Amino acid sequence: MLNRRQFLSHTAAGTASLAGMLTLPGLYAAETTAKPASKYIDVHTHIGRYTDPTKELTVDGLLSWMDEHDVEKAVVLPLTSPESTTFLQLTDVALAAGKAHPDRLIPFCSIDPRQMVGGGVKGLVKIIQAWVDQGAKGFGEHKVGLDFDDPLMMRVYEACQQVGIPLLFHIDNIRGKDVPGLKRLEHAVSTFPELNFIGHGPGWWASISGGLEQKDLGGYPKGKVQPGGAIDRIPHSSTGPHFVWDRLFGAGTTRSAV
Ligand SMILES: [Zn+2]
Repeated sequence: MLNRRQFLSHTAAGTASLAGMLTLPGLYAAETTAKPASKYIDVHTHIGRYTDPTKELTVDGLLSWMDEHDVEKAVVLPLTSPESTTFLQLTDVALAAGKAHPDRLIPFCSIDPRQMVGGGVKGLVKIIQAWVDQGAKGFGEHKVGLDFDDPLMMRVYEACQQVGIPLLFHIDNIRGKDVPGLKRLEHAVSTFPELNFIGHGPGWWASISGGLEQKDLGGYPKGKVQPGGAIDRIPHSSTGPHFVWDRLFGAGTTRSAV
């Protein structure tokens, strides 16, 4: 498990740790002989449109961006909740991109917890397992306009734990809602100790620091870090084996994560 200092000083090591969690057989196999120059796995990309109808990131556009920035592989995250984006990005698109470029793109899958699903957790497991069988390596981006431990959200965590894939979440004051100290996240982490969570979003990053107010979870942090941040506490207080960080945006990167 990485602590905050290790992550911030060794971002590449953080992504390598994630790669281990994804349990991709042969993920690095080709790299030992072919392309030693590429060093990074980008764990947070999207294909399609976000809020601007005239702007679309195509698969080719993503691959070009990866080439320009020395990124060997990228995780492609669907966005399936109405609060997550203006233009939804469905799982099938991510899976197709992964099938077309298995050496470069790592598809995740996503379903909104409020979606009509027969059979409760069992039904979710069936759906998620089918996506895993088609190549999905994780769940997310989980960016849902509900409390982080809403019963519907907990069903998704339970299903992902059963299937055995990691879940990448987003926390702010609209999506994956929590309180200062991230008690709702802690509830989910301690309830599903075998689920690998990947942390992301303003509310997550703000929680590097202690002394937060509710409004602080709604934006990327600007002030000095105060002791007592939830990120320092939760991974160690949970019984889960893994808790890793999405990349931190705003520091030396060329665009913004959503
Ligand atoms: Zn995103």
